[in-house]
Amino acid sequence: MKRQLFTILLFVLLGAVLNVAVAVACVMWTPSGSGLPPYKDLPAGSQWPKRVPSGWPAPTQITIRTSFGQSLVGTLGPVDPDSAEAKNGVAGYGQSLFQWGWPFRSMESEGRTTSRNWGPRFSSEWIADAGTVPRWMVPFENQYRRIPLRPILPGFLINSVFFGAVLWLSSRIMHRYSRREIRRRRGHCLKCGYDLRGAFERGCPECGWNREGATT
Ligand SMILES: [Zn+2]
Repeated sequence: MKRQLFTILLFVLLGAVLNVAVAVACVMWTPSGSGLPPYKDLPAGSQWPKRVPSGWPAPTQITIRTSFGQSLVGTLGPVDPDSAEAKNGVAGYGQSLFQWGWPFRSMESEGRTTSRNWGPRFSSEWIADAGTVPRWMVPFENQYRRIPLRPILPGFLINSVFFGAVLWLSSRIMHRYSRREIRRRRGHCLKCGYDLRGAFERGCPECGWNREGATT
């Protein structure tokens, strides 16, 4: 019982490591920038899932871009057009969520921007990052390629259990296969390991393997 619990914990832990590796691989290899599908609006009434900084306008619209292994969720809270900030060119404050992982999103980071509207041009400046490795550690210019540090629940747990189960199953299959191969080479029964001295055609007197009516 104790041993089984240890095995389960070990494989969930290995699954968690693989889960993080898959999320980072999604950061590296999923399309970004112009390779992404267009933004889609979330249904009206959708709530921004994170805390809005105090003094910031409430988000009016939540948009999402998803492709394999990634979801980029963004929002903009427009400033009052009569405010001094608006006269200074500030259009609004944006918040972004970068979520990665497969089959479920399991790691995320968060970014905040100021959006400026200079006539026909619209630009955003990053003002804060959270839950991501420092920018200098990420060898990409692209703003989407940030390696997330913050786990998302329950996705992180579900993925860890899923990958743990995949690892456990493949280790079982490999164990069975290698045990069979070792027995074959030694001339032992493939099923029970009884020493047949290589006489496979006569079958196994111990367990009945390869005898009439018996199967492997
Ligand atoms: Zn046997």
